[in-house]
Parts: sequence; C-alpha cells; structure tokens
Amino acid sequence: MMNFEINPNIQRKLHASQLGTNCMRRLFFRSIGMKEKVSDKAIRRMDVGNAIEPVAVEWLKRDGYEVWYGDSERGRDFELHVGDGVITGRIDILLVQGLRGVVYDIKTVDLQNAYKLRKETVEELMQSHKDYIIQINLYVYALLREDINKLTAGRVEDICDRECGLVVVSREMCDYGLREFEYNESVIREALEKAKKVFSVKNVEDFIELPIDERECKWCGFTDICNK
Ligand code: SF4
Repeated sequence: MMNFEINPNIQRKLHASQLGTNCMRRLFFRSIGMKEKVSDKAIRRMDVGNAIEPVAVEWLKRDGYEVWYGDSERGRDFELHVGDGVITGRIDILLVQGLRGVVYDIKTVDLQNAYKLRKETVEELMQSHKDYIIQINLYVYALLREDINKLTAGRVEDICDRECGLVVVSREMCDYGLREFEYNESVIREALEKAKKVFSVKNVEDFIELPIDERECKWCGFTDICNK
C-alpha cells in the first residue's frame, strides 16, 4: 500500500516555482518535505543557473538598468498562507524604470528554450513553461499583499507595478533578453486552488483521490514511493 506516513502536524509548504507541476501527488510529496531524487545532471544545471544569476545582474547594470537584486543579503522570502499550508518564494530582481518596478526572475536555459521563452505567446508558454509563468505571477501576487520594503529590506520604495517578466539567459550564446507579461489573476486562482487542495490532504483516502499526471512520471523523483 503506502510506504510513507502522513504526519498531520507537519507544516505544509510549497515553493512558488513548484506549482506548475500537474501531478498533484508529486506536489503532495513535496509539500510534506519529502526529498525528491534529482539527477546529478539536473543538480549541475541548477548550479550553473545559480552561478550565472549575479553575472546576469551585472550585465543588466552595465546595459543601464537600475536593478534591485534579492540575493541572500538583501532579499527575504515571502509567505502566502493558503488553506492549511504556505507558499514561499523570493523575488530575484526588480528592474526600476522611473516610477515603475517590474518583478523579474532570471532563467538560464538552452538556446531552444531561450527562443521559446522570448517568442511564444502566453498561451503557448502555459503549455511549454507553465511553471515559470505561475512562479512569476505568484511573485507579483505576493508583492501586492506584503509591504515591498519588508521583502526588499527597505531598499526599494513602493513602486511595484502589476507586471512581471523573465530575464532569459542563453547558456550557449552568453546573452540575455527580457520578456514581460501582464499580471494574470486566472493563473493565480488556479495555482492557489491547486495548493489548497494539496495542503488539505489529511489521510490515505484524501491522498488517493489526488489527480495524477503520468506524463510527468519520467522526470519524477518519487517513483519508488508513489505506487501509482
Ligand atoms: S511517479 Fe508519476 S504519478 Fe507518481 S508522483 Fe511522480 S509524476 Fe505523479
């Protein structure tokens, strides 16, 4: 049957970047803090992304942008309380243009995905990169609810706009492009409902009823405990 236990007292938590996952069972495992197996290659890819982030900030500054960067010294995680759990996240950067501050997340990707992220419509990106769209919209949603100065350690005035975007860095080409999006409330509604459902699981019966998405099994690190 199930080779794990559901502890009703554990704080349920998901990161904003995880809510693009379709398989609710996979989200549930993450929400109770179970460690997902990740390949060495995927870890190395994340390491490269983390290493490039401050470099991309320097590129932006060199190109004349005023940048607030939410690194470990300046940023602070936000917490959105949803049902019986919490969605967390941290703003990567705000690009300050006059009285506007637009929230961006830095994504380091291969050439093909860089092209898609810069050129595809939002509807197409909701198929190919749904996780990024949900994540960046949740960042704006969090900023609209929290004092921005608390999240940015007092470095930025209350200038956040209802827009968001991605700094798309291409690994191969060593360049970047900006892609902006309108803040989308229906994306937020869907993400919050999903989180609420996952956080509400209290027992085996609730767990079994969670909808799964077998298309994600080939990337999933919970295959050995899932028993689907
Ligand atoms: S193995 Fe498949 S069904 Fe099970 S949690 Fe992972 S993605 Fe979902």
